[in-house]
Formats: sequence, C-alpha cells, structure tokens
Amino acid sequence: MSAEKRYVAAIDQGTTSTRCMVFDHSGRVVSAVQTEHEQIFPKAGWVEHNAEEIWENTRKVCGGALAKADIQNSEIAAVGITNQRETAVVWDKSTGKPVYNAIVWQDTRTDAICESLAALGGGQERYRSRTGLPLATYFSGPKIRWILDNVEGARARAEAGELLFGNMDTWVLWNMTGGPDGGLHYTDPTNASRTLLMDLDTLNWDEEICGEMGIPLAMLPEIRSSSEPYGNVRERGVLAGVPIAGILGDQQAATFGQACLSPGEAKNTYGTGNFVLLNTGTEKVMSENGLLTTVCYKIGENAPVYALEGSIAVTGSLVQWLRDNLGLISSAADIEPLAKGVEDNGGAYFVPAFSGLFAPYWRGDARGAIVGLTRFVNKGHLARAALEATAFQTREVIDAMNADSGVPLTSLKVDGGMVVNELLMQFQADILGVPVIRPVVNETTALGAAYAAGLAVGFWASEDDIRANWAQDKQWDPAMDETHRDKQYRNWKKAVTKTFDWVE
Ligand code: ADP
Repeated sequence: MSAEKRYVAAIDQGTTSTRCMVFDHSGRVVSAVQTEHEQIFPKAGWVEHNAEEIWENTRKVCGGALAKADIQNSEIAAVGITNQRETAVVWDKSTGKPVYNAIVWQDTRTDAICESLAALGGGQERYRSRTGLPLATYFSGPKIRWILDNVEGARARAEAGELLFGNMDTWVLWNMTGGPDGGLHYTDPTNASRTLLMDLDTLNWDEEICGEMGIPLAMLPEIRSSSEPYGNVRERGVLAGVPIAGILGDQQAATFGQACLSPGEAKNTYGTGNFVLLNTGTEKVMSENGLLTTVCYKIGENAPVYALEGSIAVTGSLVQWLRDNLGLISSAADIEPLAKGVEDNGGAYFVPAFSGLFAPYWRGDARGAIVGLTRFVNKGHLARAALEATAFQTREVIDAMNADSGVPLTSLKVDGGMVVNELLMQFQADILGVPVIRPVVNETTALGAAYAAGLAVGFWASEDDIRANWAQDKQWDPAMDETHRDKQYRNWKKAVTKTFDWVE
C-alpha cells in the first residue's frame, strides 16, 4: 500500500534565496530550508544571478526540507514552484549550460532596447493593449533580446533551435524533470504575462511582438495553466517521482496564498520590493494610472483570473543597502530600534529609485535621493525615512488602484519579510488610512504555490479549503490625524520629483 499523502511541497525560487517548504492540509508549515545565492552586480544598474548555483541550491533545499522533518517522497502529494518573476535565463538544450548569467528583474541594462522599441511608434505604451504592460527594463523580453544581441553566436543558435529561454520557474521545472534528458519546457500564464511577449486574451505568445523584439518562438516555453499535473520529478534524487502540479510567479502565488480569490481582494508583499495585487476576476482592467494588468492565476481548464498590480522595485532592499553599503545597521531587524529612537523623520525623505522608479511612474531615468536634510538629521531619522519610503510608495500604488478600479480599498492584507516590522506596519496603516492585516502564515508565496499544486491533485478539494485555512494574526488601525498625513504625503511626492532626469 502506498504511504499516506499528508503533505504538499513548494519550491520558492526568490530574488535573494531559494527555499523549500512543506505544508500540511491545514496550510501550516511542517518544514522549511532556505539558502541565499550570490547577487552579482557587474556594473551600475546591472544585476545577475548564476542559474547553475540556483539549481544546485534548489536540490539542496528540497533535500534539506524533507530530511529536517523526516519526510519521505511517498508522503508528498505534489510539488508547486513559485519564483522571482521576469528574471531571464537562456541555456543550451543539449548540455543544460546557461549561455549567460540570469538577468535579474531589477536590471536596467535594457533601457536603450526599450527606447528603440518605443520609437517604432506608441512610445512606452506600444504593447500595453496586448500585454497589459508598459515597455520597461523590468520585463523579460528585452532581457532575452540583450542576451541574443550580446552573447557571441547566441542568435544563430537560438534560431537553429539549440537554445531555450525560461524564467526561473521554467529553469527549475526543466531541470527537475530531466534537463537535457527530456526536461519539460513549460511555463504558466502568470510568468508568461511578465515577458512583454504574451497576449493577455489568448494566453499565447504574440508572434508580432516576438518578431519585433527579435526573439525566435522556438526558444519560448509552452504556456500551460498554473495548476495541473505537468509531469513527475525525474526518477533519481530528491522528490523523485512526485508530481509537479503548480506554477505561479511569486506575487501571484502570494495573492493565492492570502486567499485573495474573489474580485476586489488585494494583498501587499513586503520583500526585496513591494507588490500590491488586486484580484479583478475574469475581467481584465487596463490601467490608466501606471499599474500593470497581469494574469493572477489560471486553474486547469478554468478561465484565467486577472489582477491589477502595483510593482515597487526597492523596499526591503533599501534596508539591505543601509546594512551592506553603508553599515548603518548590522542586521535588517536593527532598523526598527534605530528608527524608534527618534520621534519622526526629522524632515528627511528617502526615495530609493535604485532601479529607476516602477509603478506608478515607470521612469528608467530616475535615481535615488535623500532630501530635506538639515544638521538636525541623524541616523535614526534616516532609518525612519527608509522605512517610511516603503509605506509612501505603497500609498502611491494604492491610490492608483483605487482610481483604476473605482472601488476604494477598505483594508490591506500584508505578508513578506518586512511585515515583522511593527513600526512600519503602524505607519503603513497611518499613511493609507485603512487597517493593515497580517495573516498567521506569513509564508504566503510558498503556500500559494503549494495550494496550486495541491488543488491539481485533489489534496485540497476546492478554493473554499484555501479560504478556510486563512487566519488573521494581527491588525494595525490608522491613528494619524489627516492633516499630518496629508502634509507628509505631499512632502514625499515633492521628494519623488527630485529623482527624475538623472540618466541622459
Ligand atoms: P524576497 O522574497 O524578496 O527575497 P523576503 O520576503 O524574504 O524577500 O524579505 C526580505 C526583505 O525584508 C529584505 O530585503 C530585508 O531587508 C527585509 N527585512 C527583513 N527583516 C526586516 C525588518 N525587521 N525590518 C525591515 N525590513 C526587514
């Protein structure tokens, strides 16, 4: 008799680390192991990852998570994959070797490529009606183009069908299912919707856009759903034989894990960057206020569910920058006591436009600024200004979302690495003027991927099981008076204007 399938595993291939988490039927974490990978910064504005290191880490964390809780492969009903989105890797189909490092979502090297495409007509909005996205360095398509243009022989090899492209979901799936020996070259619509190459209505690659970007269709993965048994893990090593049954980009996975499964429900994840996603149901809402329209999830044969998204490039990574580049703190957690040592920001505003500005501005020419400095300002004020930047940027995308959807948000579900920061959470509620709510299971990204996989194999019967598993941990209510809030927000907006036009 086969062992009882008591668990679902999720692989979360994130920007800073890769983790494997095992969940039980109630959605609680049974085991988790995580490992960081190197952040490679070859030039200003460039960010790369070594895809082979990431694949090695993936195997290690899967093995580690099972061993830690003494779980056998036979007890795992399915595995789901979630991943940092947009990060692009191109590899040789017959050797599995990447032809170049993975180019990370934060990387701005494709600015000139984006500008040349915009100049073909329509500017930054050229592909908006088909893809839901502005032309920006953030997305995968221009990154693939850069690799084909800059790696010797890559274009000819791609045209000959020798090279494959994938986001990190595809890279992990292909390797887990056998690599050069028959690995599955699939992706899901949430990841595909971040390439600038997918038609949001048909969920197919848009041949015309691929043509304009010079990307051969042969190198692109097949777009499947977000929740279906794609195939089994190869018959050796960790998780051997377990069905892989869910793929969701990390932010869509967090939306799923937060049980934002009905139109009008939204979450904000506070990680390296911040990402607010609002479920708009089977209706595709095109933004007029600088947000993205994206696929939220597609469960098996069901119609796709769409989302409006406000993407903010730099939030938690500003805390890392204060730690690593300035040495202002020795760990991320130290920022809270440092910020609590002062009453307010002392007049300082910190706009972390390190990758230009994403939503709602989409300015590749912006660079970071600290403004409002006087001799009064000390490191406590700077720590506070850095945390406040996360909350102000969130307010900007929520304002855009309210304008696009016509229905003001009444509360915000939050998750991610920064939500342990109580000062930030209170300030967020104060600046938004609505309650901020944190769930018991904060690992919503991995949980969402586990849900997608578990639904596909019947481990969870329906979305109602997911709703029933969601539980609140803590709520922060707004306590700031309106005049004070408005004044601070006006100052923030003024500070943002100081970051424009830094790149010629
Ligand atoms: P990702 O999934 O994007 O890699 P996580 O959700 O793991 O990110 O969150 C990590 C981020 O949270 C880091 O950028 C880190 O600086 C930030 N962070 C961690 N702890 C704190 C804290 N106590 N206060 C503020 N920021 C924090």
